[in-house]
Amino acid sequence: MGNEKVRCLIIGSGPAGYTAAIYTSRANINPVLYEGIQPGGQLTVTTEVENFPGYPEGVAGQQLMDDLRKQAMRFGADIRTGIITSVDLSAPPYKAVVDGDKVIETQTLIIATGAAAKYLGLADEQKYAGMGVSACATCDGFFYRRKVVAVVGGGDTACEEALYLSSLASKVYLIVRKDHLRASKVMQKRVSDTPNIQILFEHNAVGLYGENGVEGVNLVKRKGEADEERVSVAIDGFFLAIGHTPNSGIFKQWLDTDGTGYIKTLPGSPLTKLPGVFAAGDVADPHYRQAVTAAASGCMAAIEADHYLLGEQ
Ligand code: NDP
Repeated sequence: MGNEKVRCLIIGSGPAGYTAAIYTSRANINPVLYEGIQPGGQLTVTTEVENFPGYPEGVAGQQLMDDLRKQAMRFGADIRTGIITSVDLSAPPYKAVVDGDKVIETQTLIIATGAAAKYLGLADEQKYAGMGVSACATCDGFFYRRKVVAVVGGGDTACEEALYLSSLASKVYLIVRKDHLRASKVMQKRVSDTPNIQILFEHNAVGLYGENGVEGVNLVKRKGEADEERVSVAIDGFFLAIGHTPNSGIFKQWLDTDGTGYIKTLPGSPLTKLPGVFAAGDVADPHYRQAVTAAASGCMAAIEADHYLLGEQ
């Protein structure tokens, strides 16, 4: 059996991928979209999205993604379950391997694989994986009702996770390495107005302890300073919220990436250095990383794919 041939392959199912699917379907390009490891992307594990235009009361992340998916399907996008495990972008038509097996040949490729949560790199994060360590409060917070948890990070994600957990856990420590939060002012205020969140500024987590799961975290206060101090805090759950790494591994051989792994595109566009290959959303955006900017870049990628295909005819 020969390889399946398509005109447009979209990899990823966050706001960028689904929006690209909406636009390419409406342009009659018959896109095929592979959803990847986390169908719906990062927003499916967030709580309320308050800053996506058009939702004055906010919308649940999962709901927003379900709606985008339905919208893409309404116009005929072929949305499939599966993971693209490798690609060959040496020359068009480009090839993508699904689940290490089936090969798809595509004239255009829209990479919208997003980003994944970062870990500190402590051996204990591995040791206690699934036993008290998590990078997703909305996924795992339920297990910590009336317990004590810590969230690492000082950005909007950390504040959001801490706020979410504060409604379940009895106490939330927010472990921040600097003496200030990076989060937006509105999030900072919400955190400081929440009585059961305690911020530990200038603390670095260096290890975890516990017999059959996390029972506490070892911290260094004012690391590297003359008054450096070691402290241990009893906790039941340890949540990471220190940012994300772009999911660009399988493309690095073929495309330019920056030091963190973000795919480089022509500034202000989804164009990569390869004709017919476009990158949209968080995988190519070290700066804005918002659902609405991801959706917008998915739209741009779709329009560029359409132009490219017209030029090929
Ligand atoms: P950010 O990059 O904004 O913040 C990461 C945080 O983790 C920083 O406080 C950083 O510390 C800290 N950090 C990073 N590495 C380490 C480490 N090794 N040890 C300890 N702390 C560390 O990531 P976010 O995921 O919070 O946000 C990403 C983007 O998404 C932002 O633009 C944000 O505004 C947006 N966002 C918006 C939301 C909303 O509007 N509702 C919700 C969530 C995210 P330091 O400050 O010292 O560098």
